Amino acid sequence: MKTKEKSRESLERSIASLEQLISISRRLNSTLEMRPLLQQIVESARELTNADGASILLLESDNTLRFAAASGPDAQLLEITEVPMDSSLAGWVVRNREMIIVEDVLSDPRHYAIQTIDPTQSLLAVPMFFGEQIIGVLESVTTKTRHSFTREDIETLETLASIAAVAVQNARLFEQSDWVAEVVHEIRTPLTAILSYADLLQCSDLDETTRLQFLAIIQQETQRVNNLATQFLDLARLESGRVRMAKVPLNVADMIARAANIIRPTLQDSGQHLEIRILTELPQTLGDDQRIHQVLLNLLSNAAKYSDPGDTITITARVEGQSIIVAVSDTGPGIPPEQLPRLFHKFSRLPGKERKVGGTGLGLVIARQIIEAHKGQIWAESEVGKGSTFYFTLPIVAPAM
Ligand code: ADP
Repeated sequence: MKTKEKSRESLERSIASLEQLISISRRLNSTLEMRPLLQQIVESARELTNADGASILLLESDNTLRFAAASGPDAQLLEITEVPMDSSLAGWVVRNREMIIVEDVLSDPRHYAIQTIDPTQSLLAVPMFFGEQIIGVLESVTTKTRHSFTREDIETLETLASIAAVAVQNARLFEQSDWVAEVVHEIRTPLTAILSYADLLQCSDLDETTRLQFLAIIQQETQRVNNLATQFLDLARLESGRVRMAKVPLNVADMIARAANIIRPTLQDSGQHLEIRILTELPQTLGDDQRIHQVLLNLLSNAAKYSDPGDTITITARVEGQSIIVAVSDTGPGIPPEQLPRLFHKFSRLPGKERKVGGTGLGLVIARQIIEAHKGQIWAESEVGKGSTFYFTLPIVAPAM
């Protein structure tokens, strides 16, 4: 009788877990929104494997593992955490391409302890395969008690991991195709202008001034298509992770002086002032000289483009903790706070000057890619009517002797 009851119970559990899996895979076919689906997957993983927490770590282009979804008491803290590939259990799963069960995580030397959360006691982690490629890891953990994960737990987690892998890949492909559509749209706008003005030029009754005006527009729009093409290519390469950043010693103060010299004539022409304020000696760091130069030029030329005659542009650099912080400020019109996060998205150009000054809305996205590839951060602060400041940090890395 007892065994009968037991097998009935286990059958009911299997049915319940199958029902959840079916519901998740149905949802997979009807959504391109990756995050809510991954969240549902980790919730189910936690419940179905009787764990205290579950999470998905995705392999990023810089070969680190980052939490993409987590459930359990420490879920929020995990979202901002990075896990090293070569010294963590999740990294072990990716490198060895196989699942792992560890009952006593704390005494396992491969474990990477995250200081801010409850210590993990037992863990089951499975690779997320997309075809032959491993794109991440799904794991269930217990924090309160030691736990023996079962064969069924492994099967459940493997099924969930393959659904999660497809969800991530679908969402990535969708993002890609979305971006292609945007590119085409952005190129079409100047091309339409070129075509229309070329048509108008064919009218014989245009006076000389109008003719020259139309020609100037055609030249300007052609230049714009060219800039767009150059920046698209640059961004696509940066996003693909194929671009290698050089690691040469950088003297940030010299680099600021060099970028300032390039922008100075433009500022003089438009009656803007430039100040450089570097009060302390900056430590040397490592990075890609040309790429950081590109970021500095982008921030300086934006400050010039989007502020007015008489405005002042100030470049400062200082050391804070383990980073060098460079700031490019202007006394221009400023940016409304709700628009600030959008600036680092593709093609975002704020209403106002965007018609008058040339631009693609890609410069800051490219700058962000470059700075993040250097393990730094980039952000903007602004007050409407007072001006804007764009900051970026570079971690201080001592060059090897
Ligand atoms: P763009 O090629 O349009 O200049 P960016 O990515 O460099 O592209 O900048 C995106 C948008 O951010 C700009 O179109 C502009 O609206 C806004 N922006 C950038 N820098 C400043 C600044 N210093 N002051 C005000 N707005 C700015």
